[in-house]
Parts: sequence; structure tokens; C-alpha cells
Amino acid sequence: MTPDPPLLAAADLRKAYGPTTALDGAEFAIRPGEIVAVMGPSGSGKSTLLHCLAGIVRPDSGRILYGGRELTAMPDAERSTLRRTDFGFVFQFGQLVPELTCAENVALPLRLNGVKRKEAEARAMEWMARLEVDDLGRKRPGEVSGGQGQRVAVARSLVTGPRVLFADEPTGALDSLNGERVMRLLTGAARDTDAAVVLVTHETRVAAYSDREVVVRDGKARDMERAR
Ligand code: ADP
Repeated sequence: MTPDPPLLAAADLRKAYGPTTALDGAEFAIRPGEIVAVMGPSGSGKSTLLHCLAGIVRPDSGRILYGGRELTAMPDAERSTLRRTDFGFVFQFGQLVPELTCAENVALPLRLNGVKRKEAEARAMEWMARLEVDDLGRKRPGEVSGGQGQRVAVARSLVTGPRVLFADEPTGALDSLNGERVMRLLTGAARDTDAAVVLVTHETRVAAYSDREVVVRDGKARDMERAR
């Protein structure tokens, strides 16, 4: 059986910030439903790679293909629509909207996509239950713990049914117990919905949840074949 073609693939990505080379010919590919850990020391270019793959940062050169379409050639408006409909994001610090309740935070991406309030609320509640935070719906982000907030952020990232979830150090601000819980729930939900996950981390304990590891060093990404 031939393996699935990549859902998202990048070839020869280069990106410089002034005199600093962040990406120096990076290659990357992920298949539907695959969980790939992007590892490497601080400053090696991991976040820049993730931001390019997600269409947030334009590389100076190189090509990114998503589902056969060239992300690097898309107009900005089309790329931002794609980010809303096909991609989900989790960052190191949840980045929840502090003025909204947790349930409103989870429903927000649906509301932005034009889903009616009642349906958005119902789907938000389902996802909060899945992430074991359904008792926090009425609380504001400032009233919940770091681990709880991060599980709310994961619910928000998956509520639209993204094909790719981008997670940048999702457990970086958590203790190991809460980090494990976030990773278990995040990867379980991604597998249930067949979402691919690009997981940036510097922790082997977190990378252990992936199918495959890619190591970034000096702006170059290298595939590490690892037994599943
Ligand atoms: P990592 O995620 O592996 O820590 P980054 O992709 O954040 O690495 O950074 C790679 C290099 O690019 C670093 O030297 C960093 O300082 C630099 N860099 C990243 N983003 C910017 C930016 N917006 N402006 C200037 N330099 C940046």
C-alpha cells in the first residue's frame, strides 16, 4: 500500500530576520492524521517553521503546499480564510480572551466562521467536555489554573474541526502532571478527528506523544525515523 500523500509539505524554506537566518533550506511534510514533533534547541528555527507552515509568516523563498494548493502563492485574504477554516492553533500561554468566559472563548472561532450562537455554544460545550473542562464554562480565564486554561485553549483550537493543529510548546508553561494531561487529551482528540498535529517542543517527554520527530538545527529540518 502506498502511504497517503502529504497534507502539508514544505520545500527549501528560507527566512531571514535582518542578519539572522531563521530558516536555511528547511524541508517538512505531514500526512493526514499524523502527529509530528518538531524538536531542536532554542533559536534553531522551530517557531519560524511552524509560522511559515501555518501561513502566518511568508518565507523569503521556498514552497509550501497544502492539499495540493500553494500556500506561498495565495493572496493574504485567502490564507487567512484557510487559517480559520482548516487550521487550529495552541500556543505556550493559552492566549484566551480575558474578557470572555471559557465557554465563549471556545465558541469564538465558530462565531467568527458564522455559526449561529446556539449551535456554537452547544459545540463548545461538547469540546469542553472532551477536554474535561465542562465545569469551567462560566469562569473567565483569570479564574482558572494554567492546566485548565490550556485545556480550554485546546478545546478552542479543535472546535472548528481543523485538518491541521499547530501546537507551539503547548505544555511549556505547565508542570509535568498537567503537561501530560494536556498532551493525552490533545493527541486523543486529534486522533479521534483525524487532525494532523505539528507539535513544536523541546521536551522528549512531550515528543513521545508523536508518530515521528523532525529535528531543526540552524534553520535546517531533518526527519528522524522512529519506530512507532
Ligand atoms: P525556536 O522556535 O527554535 O526557538 P525561532 O524560530 O523562534 O526559534 O527563531 C529562530 C531565529 O530567528 C532566532 O535567532 C530568533 O532570534 C530569530 N527570530 C525569530 N523571529 C524573529 C523576529 N520576528 N524578528 C527577529 N528575529 C527573529
